[in-house]
Amino acid sequence: MFKKILIANRGEIALRIQRACRELGIKAVMVYSEADRDAKYVKLAEEAVCIGPAQSTLSYLNMPAIISAAEVTDAEAIHPGYGFLSENADFAERVEKSGFQFIGPTPESIRIMGDKVSAKQAMIRAGVPCVPGSEGELPDDPVQIRRMAKAVGYPVIIKAAGGGGGRGMRVVHTEAALINAVAMTKAEAGAAFGNPAVYMEKFLQNPRHIEIQILADKHKNAVYLGERDCSMQRRHQKILEEAPAPGINRKLIDRVGERCVNACKKIGYRGAGTFEFLYEDGEFYFIEMNTRVQVEHPVTEMVTGIDIVKTQIMVAAGEKLPFTQRQIGVRGHAIECRINAEDPYKFIPSPGRVTMWHAPGGPGVRVDSHVYTNYFVPPNYDSMVGKIIVHGDTREQAMARMRTALAETVVEGINTNIPLHRELLVDAKFMDGGTNIHYLEQWLEQHKR
Ligand code: ADP
Repeated sequence: MFKKILIANRGEIALRIQRACRELGIKAVMVYSEADRDAKYVKLAEEAVCIGPAQSTLSYLNMPAIISAAEVTDAEAIHPGYGFLSENADFAERVEKSGFQFIGPTPESIRIMGDKVSAKQAMIRAGVPCVPGSEGELPDDPVQIRRMAKAVGYPVIIKAAGGGGGRGMRVVHTEAALINAVAMTKAEAGAAFGNPAVYMEKFLQNPRHIEIQILADKHKNAVYLGERDCSMQRRHQKILEEAPAPGINRKLIDRVGERCVNACKKIGYRGAGTFEFLYEDGEFYFIEMNTRVQVEHPVTEMVTGIDIVKTQIMVAAGEKLPFTQRQIGVRGHAIECRINAEDPYKFIPSPGRVTMWHAPGGPGVRVDSHVYTNYFVPPNYDSMVGKIIVHGDTREQAMARMRTALAETVVEGINTNIPLHRELLVDAKFMDGGTNIHYLEQWLEQHKR
């Protein structure tokens, strides 16, 4: 096992990984930008290194600064968390070339999955169900493009191979709009992602977003930890997640989970990963894979009892997965609410001094947050300041616990989206379960204020 790990991230996930290290008896080196000097995990750290100014490009995205911090502190491995450099294959490569273990998959796996066209091709080969569409990059010939769209059936969506964060996509409803839409998406993709390649998919009208968590080691073992329902989204940003997904046949989930595991074995995947699917009319359609730990990983931890972050570290150190598929069960129900520093209905970011922070507690309640009373939320980064996660024997119990937890939570000095979560937790459709990816935006439209 490692003796010392460097955590190349900030915020709640930096604290989460630090906690996992403590449990494993590993020393954690924290890095921080000048804006994060007062972060809780920096104060708790045995060792911490300032890697640059507030601006991410000069600190959390600054590869040489992070690698030299690992060198001067004698760390053996680097955990990238999520966001920032976590899905950057060049970073993973530089980490390994500098003699450190990257806590994640190989640079090759990141590269294959980072290009959505090659990811889809790998999934098709592994028998994972995908959204029907062009099997590869779109050709230049308009006649061929039109023929493909006709075969797929309108509406179609044109997506950038290098896209991410919900950008680089365009829905096309008619043949008349097709060729122009392809040209525009290509131009945007070239400018935004440095890769003009685009592909085509059938546009699903009312899908849910369901994803499967996997864990794999370096000894060809891989398992799936069930699914998460992350359909509650605004502008493709998830705000509330749950596990298991209400109303989906277990046998179907198991079938898809097994396919994901096979895909991992086929590509020699290691570490934690998530296969994201759209789910409509009883069918799963792969859209992309995330090659890192995800924000919403705690709901899976709560229902399986497996510590995903600790397992990531153990498999990176070369250990075998400590459980087999048969030993993994899903017990009860878990819900996560992301707490964002923003206006709850207008979504304007609300950084600043937190004058009062009171986190909820009680049975089945978990809070992952680096915030404390008098903490200053810097304006330079993502607005998420923490997560409240609850577990119950049933979905009803989990919802009741979340309502209690949200009622207990006090955050003063900044605005948060807690009022929105409180409303969603008593919304009749949400309480029924199984709302689709458009539900939250429609709800917000109807509840405009
Ligand atoms: P990104 O990497 O930018 O997040 P994804 O491929 O994961 O891109 O897609 C993001 C979101 O866009 C999905 O969660 C879904 O809401 C929508 N989307 C993507 N592909 C389709 C599709 N074929 N049909 C309907 N919606 C889609």
